[in-house]
Amino acid sequence: MKGHRGSSPPILKDRHSRQPSNRGGGDIFTTEKRSQVMSLVKSKDTKPELKVRSALHSLGFRFRLHRKDLPGCPDIVLPMYRTVVFVHGCFWHQHKGCRKAKLPKQNARFWAAKLRRNARRDVEVRNQLRALGWKVVILWECRLGK
Ligand SMILES: [Zn+2]
Repeated sequence: MKGHRGSSPPILKDRHSRQPSNRGGGDIFTTEKRSQVMSLVKSKDTKPELKVRSALHSLGFRFRLHRKDLPGCPDIVLPMYRTVVFVHGCFWHQHKGCRKAKLPKQNARFWAAKLRRNARRDVEVRNQLRALGWKVVILWECRLGK
């Protein structure tokens, strides 16, 4: 739409469906990393997302949540502005240059591959949304405060 492409870091959108710790199985995190990661994935309604919602709400915006009929099931949808908002965890979405995006030392190859796949998919999602005429806004968790 507005011709503002390629300037943002790779966008990912996968938090809801991939939570490796749910799978049982091997010990893929160190204890320290596990708690760090878990604090990012805890639930669908992550705190940063709630913050954004209440801010939007108090400003009088009308929005809908997790619209499954849109590519990537955007966290927040503002139909009147034809805008979707993704609230991205810095790790899962590999916020460039962010310290929260650092890969765990253990299983670094696993994580690198996984997150690269996510990145590719999310670029697709973003492109699909834009092709449908939606403006895509990415908000990074680290920028929203704790
Ligand atoms: Zn960040």
